[in-house]
Amino acid sequence: MPQCKSKPEPAPHRAAASLASQEPPDLQALGEPAFLQPKELTPELPNQRLVVVLDPGHGAKDNPGNTSCYCIAEQDFTLALAYDLEAVLDELGGFDVVLSRRGSELVSYADRVALAERLQADAFISLHSDIRGQAKLWRPDGTADCKWSEEAPGFSVLFSDEALPRMVAARRSLGSELAKGLLAAEFSPYGGKEYLNLYESDAAAAGLFVDRHEAKKRVFVLRKPTVPSIIIETHNALDPREASRWEDVDVRRAFALAVAEGLSQFRRGLSESK
Ligand SMILES: [Zn+2]
Repeated sequence: MPQCKSKPEPAPHRAAASLASQEPPDLQALGEPAFLQPKELTPELPNQRLVVVLDPGHGAKDNPGNTSCYCIAEQDFTLALAYDLEAVLDELGGFDVVLSRRGSELVSYADRVALAERLQADAFISLHSDIRGQAKLWRPDGTADCKWSEEAPGFSVLFSDEALPRMVAARRSLGSELAKGLLAAEFSPYGGKEYLNLYESDAAAAGLFVDRHEAKKRVFVLRKPTVPSIIIETHNALDPREASRWEDVDVRRAFALAVAEGLSQFRRGLSESK
């Protein structure tokens, strides 16, 4: 399934014999060394402070998220990324950043949304990674079987249009400005092929998608908050090129600066529309 999992995937247990027929990825041939080389933007900071709730996706009860091609739990990736993003936004100034969870604490999604609403946050940004594409197995550390795929790399930004028009406009603006920031920093947008019937491409920016799950399966943190909320799926966690690059401190810094730029543009749009 391409969408972000709300339930943990079972650990892949396959007989060793089944691995023999599957070649590990040739990272050199896939272009791994040159893959994902974003540039650092110089964001123009907002003229008013922005209250931003950063939500490291998953880390709720029985919900560690997906498992990457290096068998890393999504909840661990998103938490580490949130710390790095928080540090850069604090360093830049202009943002009051609050994380929805820290350390090993388990926090329900309802509590995270309640936190953002209590703070009257300007933006609620939920960080995730996706899993997409036909998966194969490999053993990157020689012991655990992990799934990998090179089929569907790229970032996506998700929002919901299930709300009154004013809130939908705010969510779309937040999502499109963040997507534009990532595009300006030369992160590659995901095309959306595997999102069929789940998310629909939005014309406001490449990489921006609107939730099209059937009514009862729509994403809670997208449709529920009464403050503007979006999800950033940073990359395809099954893609070893992306998963390794996203561990790089320079890629994370470029991401944080792109988010800062997107938030600043979002704030500017809000000021102009008043
Ligand atoms: Zn997720």
